[in-house]
Amino acid sequence: MRKEKNIIPIKPLSRTIPLSGKINKQDSHWIDTRGRPLRDLRISVTDRCNFRCRYCMPKEKFEKDHSFLAHTELLSFEEIERLARIFVKNGVEKIRLTGGEPLLRKNIESLVTRLSSIKTHNGKNLDVAITTNGSALSKKAKSLAEAGLKRITVSLDSMNPETFMKLNDVGFPVEKVLKGIQAAEDAGIPSIKINVVVKKGVNENDLLDIVRHFKGTRVIVRFIEFMDVGVTNGWRMDDVVPSRQIIETINKEFPIEPADPNYVGEVASRWKFKDNGGEIGFISSVSEPFCKECSRMRLSVDGKLYKCLFATEGFDIRQMIRGGATDEEIEQAIGRIWSARDEHYSEIRTSETHKERLNNKIEMSYIGG
Ligand code: SAM
Ligand code: SF4
Ligand code: SF4
Repeated sequence: MRKEKNIIPIKPLSRTIPLSGKINKQDSHWIDTRGRPLRDLRISVTDRCNFRCRYCMPKEKFEKDHSFLAHTELLSFEEIERLARIFVKNGVEKIRLTGGEPLLRKNIESLVTRLSSIKTHNGKNLDVAITTNGSALSKKAKSLAEAGLKRITVSLDSMNPETFMKLNDVGFPVEKVLKGIQAAEDAGIPSIKINVVVKKGVNENDLLDIVRHFKGTRVIVRFIEFMDVGVTNGWRMDDVVPSRQIIETINKEFPIEPADPNYVGEVASRWKFKDNGGEIGFISSVSEPFCKECSRMRLSVDGKLYKCLFATEGFDIRQMIRGGATDEEIEQAIGRIWSARDEHYSEIRTSETHKERLNNKIEMSYIGG
């Protein structure tokens, strides 16, 4: 049996799967209590990572004393595909594979192939994306493109070699990630984005270099406010640099103006360079919450469903699957879970709400960022 060594909620609280209750549906989508349709699913395919970013898996909490999940506890690709088909039948249009580091999951390309061939309710191929730290992208970009991957997001918080190594805390060189991004471009992956988590006093002075590097290319940079996910990263409101401040800094050097969203519920607010140098985005979960349009569910690496990134409890769908439930039973359970959803954590976030939930918050690497 796996030894429980660490207090990190690697086995977070579980809620009972609802066996009765209303299912709200409009057109092809399940609708929650705030009128929000379920369109988007994030799947964590591994809780392991080769980086130890301080804001996500700090070394002192995720080193020797930490027990990662055993392979048998992870959802298999067959189980993931089965669930994905149920979600897509009920209106999900996008699936993002994340983690931990998704490219560490063996043969991840075959999961991309399985999922990309699913047809959505409007007859299109399912939109499958991956978020990665880019460390294995030089090796994998071509095979991922061949597997049908259309969108990739690479996390890159600094182009300064020293700051980058400090951030990943395993001495991984930034040049290798840049080579990975180049490999994704060369492989012809149509959409490439860069995620930059901004933490006060850590990388806030490196942002213009990133903008300069990617401006005028087809790679879109998005700045993300440091969030209070999980319990291990020591989040404090004081560490957050509000997007508004970053916009002002960038605007002084590279004039930008707001652009319309690509679609309703787009998480990043879009801005474009006035000189036609492309666009950048800002994900301002802390300073400008977007819960009103949040249409996202998360599936953890061991098959628990979460209605919010800041949830403290998940619903154990793997238990249903491995207990022999039919597709219809699973479908109804998920429909009930979404229909009862009222979550809107970012709208009520204060330093106090963060403290109240502190012992039960789920780690990003487990729930999937
Ligand atoms: N390992 C992959 C990566 O780093 O891209 C995928 C998983 S990671 C948890 C997904 C995204 O969440 C990354 O872009 C990462 O920078 C972001 N992230 C992690 N912890 C965060 C935090 N506390 N606040 C904001 N974003 C965070
Ligand atoms: Fe790993 Fe991604 Fe978390 Fe960094 S942000 S520790 S790369 S899972
Ligand atoms: Fe969605 Fe929860 Fe984030 Fe609000 S706080 S946008 S409900 S995940």
